[in-house]
Amino acid sequence: MDLSRRDVMMAAGGLAALTLPGADVRAQPGRKLGYAIVGLGGYGLGKIIPEFANCTHSRLAGVVSGDRAKAERVAAEHNLPARSIYSYDNFDRIADNPDIDIVYVCLPNAMHAAYTIRAAKAGKHVLCEKPMAISVAESEAMIAACKAANRKLMIGYRCHFEATNLEAMRRARAGEIGKLRYFRSEHAYPQGDPSQWRLKRALSGGGSLMDYGIYALQAARYMTGEEPIAVYAHESTDRSDPRFHEVEDQIEFQLEFPSGVIGSCLSGYSANQNHVLLLGDKARIEMEPATGYAGHRLWVGNRRDTEITPRPGPGKTQWAGQLDHLAHCVIEDREPIVSGEEGLRDMRIIEAIYRSARERTRVVLA
Ligand code: NAD
Repeated sequence: MDLSRRDVMMAAGGLAALTLPGADVRAQPGRKLGYAIVGLGGYGLGKIIPEFANCTHSRLAGVVSGDRAKAERVAAEHNLPARSIYSYDNFDRIADNPDIDIVYVCLPNAMHAAYTIRAAKAGKHVLCEKPMAISVAESEAMIAACKAANRKLMIGYRCHFEATNLEAMRRARAGEIGKLRYFRSEHAYPQGDPSQWRLKRALSGGGSLMDYGIYALQAARYMTGEEPIAVYAHESTDRSDPRFHEVEDQIEFQLEFPSGVIGSCLSGYSANQNHVLLLGDKARIEMEPATGYAGHRLWVGNRRDTEITPRPGPGKTQWAGQLDHLAHCVIEDREPIVSGEEGLRDMRIIEAIYRSARERTRVVLA
């Protein structure tokens, strides 16, 4: 993780202050890079598309959907021409559309790898939602495909563009709470409809950990700035509950970091919590809600004595910061701060967590 670069970006007043030229420039100065959104569901349509209004370097340039009527309605609302509407079948024709620079994959987890690889083969850069894929092997194939096509790959880890999380990371790294000793995070929300794809293993790749616990894992890594060397996990799921016939509900995992910091994380689908706590030998940093869409709160000090107002993030919103970051990485030909490799690191740990829970043993990470 490259905090110093982020700090420089923020100090420079965000993306607008950076220059455009470079050998691999795919945009004329002033031209916003075009995104095609694949999957017009809750996140792609409900959250991402409205965010282009907050962007400086990015715009909606295409939609990919299995529902033609929905795609046409969205295209009409955003003044997109008919040639920028794609189905999953003719998606590869996106290669011929110069308006589209980046494909944003907002599909069920098991479809991330296929659409990332197809997008790279079509010559497009890719922003792929978390979790990056449903296995390490798929994640590696995605990275290889983007490398072979010389395209950027970024994972939708929006918290790296969210002001409160950035402030918390900065203060942890600056030593404000002293030597780091212990990290704790609980990420849980009550899951509903048993028929949805999140509860079908073939489409989700796993339960709460793949969906929400990954935020706790990410936070453990970006708050400590360390990579875990071993994991120990314990799963507790009521398999008679129709929601959890195929995937886990509650999974608790402990991360051992090289400095001796212990990370203790809870991921669940039948409780409600979004919380991060980092203890140092002098004080503590706490966020609640920590990684949500809005309402983040941050305390630094002893207990919740001192609430902190964070300095502004790199974008108008965390999503605008994220969308413009990749656009800028394409323009400047540099690696996104949350690259495919960053997604792969999480996938390796997630596989180790599942293995640990299955085998009831501590798993050492390479
Ligand atoms: P959703 O169910 O609301 O939307 C999924 C979309 O995929 C729908 O448009 C659906 O029609 C389409 N789809 C295509 N093939 C499908 C199939 N075989 N089964 C089911 N749907 C299919 O899901 P979502 O909440 O938009 O999640 C999409 C991705 O975004 C997931 O990977 C999820 O983890 C991620 N996500 C990220 C955040 C975040 O804050 N970063 C938030 C929500 C979702």
